[in-house]
Amino acid sequence: MNDSLSRAVLEVADAPPAAATLREVAPGVHWLRMPLPFALDHVNLWLVDEGDAVALVDCGYGDATTRAHWEALFAGALAGRPIRHIVATHCHPDHVGNAAWLAERFGCDVMMTQSEFLASHAMLGEHAGYGPADTRALFARHGLASEHLDALAARGNSYRKGVPQAPRAFSRLIHGDRVKLGERTWRVIAGYGHSPEHAALACEDSALLVSGDMLLPRISTNVSVWPAEPDADPVARFLDSLTAFEALPPDTLVLPSHGAPFRGIHARVARLRAHHAERLDELHAALAAAKQPRSAADVVPVLFRRPLDLQQRFFAMGEAIAHLNHLWQSQRARRIVADDGTLRFAA
Ligand SMILES: [Zn+2]
Repeated sequence: MNDSLSRAVLEVADAPPAAATLREVAPGVHWLRMPLPFALDHVNLWLVDEGDAVALVDCGYGDATTRAHWEALFAGALAGRPIRHIVATHCHPDHVGNAAWLAERFGCDVMMTQSEFLASHAMLGEHAGYGPADTRALFARHGLASEHLDALAARGNSYRKGVPQAPRAFSRLIHGDRVKLGERTWRVIAGYGHSPEHAALACEDSALLVSGDMLLPRISTNVSVWPAEPDADPVARFLDSLTAFEALPPDTLVLPSHGAPFRGIHARVARLRAHHAERLDELHAALAAAKQPRSAADVVPVLFRRPLDLQQRFFAMGEAIAHLNHLWQSQRARRIVADDGTLRFAA
């Protein structure tokens, strides 16, 4: 069943555009791919024609490599065509990294949700529970070994590496807002579970969706617990958020942040729902089979059966806590505080 579901997701273009070049994927909408210094090595950005200017959705990681690509574009494909509007789908570095830099350069506004704007500043400033020390404490509480905690601490504030500065001001987007980019009007669809208040953009008349990280063609979106909200159930939030995408036209061309544009939105949402249900069942079975209550660190190998680098281990811990919290919050598991303060779960 799962194979037929995955086959129903048709990727429209396998080969991405070369660096610093644009590929038109719908009339007036262009695909731009930028590099990322991670195992996930690219992010897709979208440019919309606005006559003698362009609108931009997402900005790329804020490092010298991406900025060199931007400079090449400004001297080449975008010469004489300024960026007039910027939309940031969410606060993650590959999306918002260059927003402040580009907005300053072109004197344009940055449209984003308030939660993403505030979270970006909180991570940069390490306010409340948004700093690396808070992440370290959360993962320690969930049983991560000290060698991995030390590696995490040695990394410092990795958010600042990809977001050297965040916009000082923004134009607020909320769910249901209509945004004019180019000749089309796009509707904001808020999404939860991946980031605080992700904004996707749907244009039903043209059957287009800029899905950001909420819908990706091959990989499942990272759904993690973060230290400021340690008891959160982002899996439930994410699954609830998918309902809005199920209401879109079946022939919608989805423009995702990673991978290639695709059609088959309903099959993809069904696959994601099945994926999370399978993961939760596997995790529940692992808890039921264990003689002792298990921590999130204990169950990382249940969810991820491959070697993990530091960045991947960091996301894997967040995902493991998210899935355990979901079992706990939906009363399929109990959460136990061990004598040493570690959180463990039992079926
Ligand atoms: Zn993201």
